[in-house]
Amino acid sequence: MKHTPGLRTIILTLLLIVTLLFSICKEQPAAVWDEHLVPPICVRQAFNPRNNRQRWLRRWAKRQRQRPQARRARRRHRRSVSSQCLSAHRTSSVTATGSGQGAVPSAARRRSRKAPRVLPQAGGEADPLSELRQKRGLVDLTPERELWAMLIKVRWPQGAVCPYCGERDPRYVQWLDEDYRHGLGRWRCRVCTEAGDPGEGGTFTPLTGTLLEGMRFDIRTLWFMAEMFADGKASVETSEEARVHRHTSDRLFRLFRAAIYQTRPTEPIALGPEDVAEFDEVYITAGLKGGAGGLTLEREARQRGLKRRGRGDWDSDRLPVFGLLCRGGQVRLFVLRNVQTDTIRPIVEQMVKRGAWVYTDSYCIYHFLSEAGYQHQTVNHGAGEYALDLDGDGQCEVHCNTMECTWSWLRQMVRTYRGISKVYLPLYVVQFEFFYNRRHQNRWNRTLDVLQAVFQVDATSAADLRTRVQTARFAEVCPVAG
Ligand SMILES: [Zn+2]
Repeated sequence: MKHTPGLRTIILTLLLIVTLLFSICKEQPAAVWDEHLVPPICVRQAFNPRNNRQRWLRRWAKRQRQRPQARRARRRHRRSVSSQCLSAHRTSSVTATGSGQGAVPSAARRRSRKAPRVLPQAGGEADPLSELRQKRGLVDLTPERELWAMLIKVRWPQGAVCPYCGERDPRYVQWLDEDYRHGLGRWRCRVCTEAGDPGEGGTFTPLTGTLLEGMRFDIRTLWFMAEMFADGKASVETSEEARVHRHTSDRLFRLFRAAIYQTRPTEPIALGPEDVAEFDEVYITAGLKGGAGGLTLEREARQRGLKRRGRGDWDSDRLPVFGLLCRGGQVRLFVLRNVQTDTIRPIVEQMVKRGAWVYTDSYCIYHFLSEAGYQHQTVNHGAGEYALDLDGDGQCEVHCNTMECTWSWLRQMVRTYRGISKVYLPLYVVQFEFFYNRRHQNRWNRTLDVLQAVFQVDATSAADLRTRVQTARFAEVCPVAG
């Protein structure tokens, strides 16, 4: 059949129209916000180890494809390595579900090391609670979104606030992506976007500009470890319970301690003649360990325990801790280089207002108190005096036994950590002070207070503090007075 010229023209025109229509339809609709404002896909990935591994393998395979052709033997070698990687990954995911057999590859061994040790049942019966035994506590039974929501509530009790400009009006601070990291969410500040400055085009998460920015572990682990910290557990014990590396829990605990140190209260504890304060000092044995704070040990290692020789100070490795306590109120503790009147005087004048009652032992560093305007009474421990009744009402009110009791708790807490470097001792003492002042609260409320302290460290100093904590330069974070 032969086409007429007219028909061919019509067909060509139709084809042209169809092509034009197709190209118009392919164009994307106008974006709500600029494309460059949305972070690239690699930033938005969830922190799921299995997905991360798969993504890594895909990228590796792609990189292999893009490489220039190598020699045949080398190509064969690479192919065998990649197939080994893939088969190891497949076997490990199969053994994780409990049906794998045969030789256990290295990836699977690494995974099984993290699983909790379960005692074998008598008679070889399957444990009916095996599924439940994989859980670490109530945090593993709580939905992930709820855990994020609780953390966001601690961060922003009054609703979202832009960390760059402080804008809190919900018309300008918008919720962009509620699925980001399975519930952490992502917000955008229109004020910052229009101004065009700070990073990532004015988008932020609740962790932006805080000490927890860049946190890689999941939200359950965070809550679990914060609860262990509030319970006074050491980081090694926590790492086994939370199934993370001990360096991970150690780094997080250091952040918590640094945050508590930064946000410690500085207001006076006793305000006037109606308040009764007790002062005392204790000596904690702590030497230099492992080059902490950039200080190296210049003497030979000690063969026996530290001998008591006079009062302790920084050089003799028995550090004085000076304590001030208001009866029915709070405690403040300070690690000092030495115990002298000049060292404690500024602390006393800041923490206790003139006119308050002060009870101490008869150590000579406290003799300045009555001249400085305090109502000072002493008990002479050397003469066997521990409590005196000076006003004759039948109650021995002059004593510093409340403070002595605090030292007993401090010694017990320090023992948990099996030896602390004297560079880090101020952090542990302030941690003790934080928990001692909250000793009538339950563990959950103490956990919330710890996280609140973490979020109270302001954005500008947070990055600097995080670097110091990660490089263990604590001597700059907590200098010792005196
Ligand atoms: Zn803003």
